[in-house]
Amino acid sequence: MGMIAENIDIIVKKINTCRLECHRDDTVSLLCVSKTKPLEDIKAAYDAGQRHFGENYVQEAALKIEQFKQNYGLSDIKWHFIGPIQSNKSKTVANIFDMVESVDREKIARRLNEQRDENLPALDILVQVNISDEAQKSGCAIANVDSLVTYIKDNCPKLRLRGFMVIALDTQDIAEIKREFLKIRDIFNTYKEKYKHFDTLSMGMTSDMECAIECGSTQVRIGSAIFGSRNYTKE
Ligand SMILES: *Cc1c(COP(=O)(O)O)cnc(C)c1O
Repeated sequence: MGMIAENIDIIVKKINTCRLECHRDDTVSLLCVSKTKPLEDIKAAYDAGQRHFGENYVQEAALKIEQFKQNYGLSDIKWHFIGPIQSNKSKTVANIFDMVESVDREKIARRLNEQRDENLPALDILVQVNISDEAQKSGCAIANVDSLVTYIKDNCPKLRLRGFMVIALDTQDIAEIKREFLKIRDIFNTYKEKYKHFDTLSMGMTSDMECAIECGSTQVRIGSAIFGSRNYTKE
């Protein structure tokens, strides 16, 4: 078994152990975060059974999505966009991804809705919520979530709102992270009762995955524990 397959095996086991320990009988899906990583790494994860991949940079993702299809002739793979969305890139984002997890304002929702190709099915989206108000730049403030959700429901027929995505505060204080996770879990549950497609709470990364599962995450986004640490320096 290669390194990536081995890492996936470990992560999948951890997810399941954690689910059982906190008496959850629903599923927690794994999103493999492949930003900055080459196609061969994605193919190794694909061969290990993974089908959901997360990318942060539009240009990089566009190239990889196209090449993956061409090089391997495989199309049963789902691409998730999890990075900040600039409005001048929204047209590409609207049309090359299966799910967009980082919708954080009306303007972006409106553009994705207008720009999604008529021949494609409705685009699955998550609203990214800023759960640690002061420290983060991206994400919709909790106070504005209701108006954004309502806007999407009333004005965006080409978007299918599936839930929320959150990134925890960058801190070692796991109690603080847990407070934030539980707060968004409660908000998520109230929407889940009202809206039928609301089924995804994307929460937890390599460093806080287990805490997130304990707090009700339905999707963890794992990069470095699968593909190794990222190297951002350009050759
Ligand atoms: C990079 C990234 C991840 C994965 O982070 P790891 O710590 O490598 O697991 C998850 N979510 C988002 C939004 C990211 O940008």
